[in-house]
Amino acid sequence: MEQIIAGVDIGGTTLKIALITPDGELVARSQQATPLVAGEDGIVEHMAETIHSLLQQNGYTPKQACGIGVGVPGPVDTKTGVVRKAVNLHWKRPVPLQAKLEALSGLPVLVDNDANTAALGEMWRGAGRGAKDLVVLTLGTGIGGGVIVDGKIVHGINGAGGEIGHITMTPDQGSACNCGKTGCLETYSSATALVREGQLAATSGASPVLSHILKTNGNIQAKDVFDAAKTGDPAASAIVEEAVTYLGLALSHLGMLLNPSHIVIGGGVALAGDFLFSRLRKAFDRFVSFPFIRRSTQIVPATLGNDAGVYGAAWLIRSRMSP
Ligand SMILES: [Zn+2]
Repeated sequence: MEQIIAGVDIGGTTLKIALITPDGELVARSQQATPLVAGEDGIVEHMAETIHSLLQQNGYTPKQACGIGVGVPGPVDTKTGVVRKAVNLHWKRPVPLQAKLEALSGLPVLVDNDANTAALGEMWRGAGRGAKDLVVLTLGTGIGGGVIVDGKIVHGINGAGGEIGHITMTPDQGSACNCGKTGCLETYSSATALVREGQLAATSGASPVLSHILKTNGNIQAKDVFDAAKTGDPAASAIVEEAVTYLGLALSHLGMLLNPSHIVIGGGVALAGDFLFSRLRKAFDRFVSFPFIRRSTQIVPATLGNDAGVYGAAWLIRSRMSP
């Protein structure tokens, strides 16, 4: 009897659900706006109903379903499946997601943070396929991270392992971070940081190219900063150089600490492609002390895009099944 796993990725805007075989084939998907107004119970009920109808529509009986994996945008106690809080979902107090969804669906449920499920997805079916020691970073509005050692996510004692975006890069300077501190990696190398610096360069007149873009479009995007740097604009080049230097420095620390085979980079900033990756490689090599770590660590773009979360969520269940 063919088995099937449900992978769920709950975001602040989009709720993605996929049916994935134990071999990692995605056979059906549902994508819709997250029903935030329904509250926590409403969202969980909606998930259970959607999974049930996806199974039915695709000819699977409840007996064929092995379980549901869920990635959520917040810290999770993975042993109990309790989401401590999820600001983007408006969950301000702990939500026992695993217990609620198990009761409604009648299926085993496992829950983890969405940066971790995205990392597991890239390990199982993406850029880290076949690897067991990898670090996955998502460079977007913030910087999300997942650290995998010997095939397992590093959760740490409080489930806060892998918060790479909030590693302090500069002790006494730097911009304010959402976490309340200053000088975090996120304040140097996220899309938000590139936009902030790009806007400064545009309004101060330091970058004529970015000034022109700001006048024409009314705003600056991270892509604009990369595009301006590609044309040789000195101010934009300096912004990219700083973002890449701090990112390379942080990655070199992870390289020395973990000796991963792969560092996988996803998110909007990674779309800058080779222009980013070649510079990042140089920065990483500059700061890594041991030649064999330089040689053994690949720095590669993520390949699953927005699907990484559902694959990794399904992997939570798959990894508990027999090979
Ligand atoms: Zn921070």
